[in-house]
Amino acid sequence: MMRNRAAFLDRDGVIIRDVPDLCDARKVEIFGFSAKGIKMLNKMKMYVIIVTNQPQIAKGFCTEEVVKGINRMIVEELKSQGAVVDAVYYCPHHPEKGFPGEIPKYKIDCNCRKPKIGMLEQAKERFGIDMPASFMIGNTSRDIQTGENAAKKYPGFRSIQVGDPSTEDKRAFQAKPDFVAGNLLEAAEMIKSMKASK
Ligand SMILES: [Zn+2]
Repeated sequence: MMRNRAAFLDRDGVIIRDVPDLCDARKVEIFGFSAKGIKMLNKMKMYVIIVTNQPQIAKGFCTEEVVKGINRMIVEELKSQGAVVDAVYYCPHHPEKGFPGEIPKYKIDCNCRKPKIGMLEQAKERFGIDMPASFMIGNTSRDIQTGENAAKKYPGFRSIQVGDPSTEDKRAFQAKPDFVAGNLLEAAEMIKSMKASK
């Protein structure tokens, strides 16, 4: 029986090098292992869904179009290496008001900004994803909290911490990952090795 499992991937720090408030396509650096890891997930017939917070849109640092362009570029580059990303969801919002240059329409307490699971829910509806058999892969405690929040609603959903949350306060969120891997490729290998047992 085919199960509609998904790997939800954070973008910055997981697929590309984390550049704070990235608004410049020239600063995009896709990790050498990203295509390989995503290809492995493709082979396991898992949906590969990017879920990324992009609050620099709300902060007025760049437009939604710029972020969409960067996302398209990343997806195309991965595709040219044989790795398929099924969808990209981004949150343009930021809840804290009162900064110069901010864009009021994005300054809301939305349902999509991680650690909320709105973006995961959107993908679930669109692709019919089997959430209890799916994973969140991220480098920050915010991603791991997202995984824990998904697991509260969909028991069985698991998180994998990868890489280094260096640009973020490691204790911003208290959630503990279900697994820890060195990077996205190692996380994909980990999921592959678990397949038989689940
Ligand atoms: Zn949002």
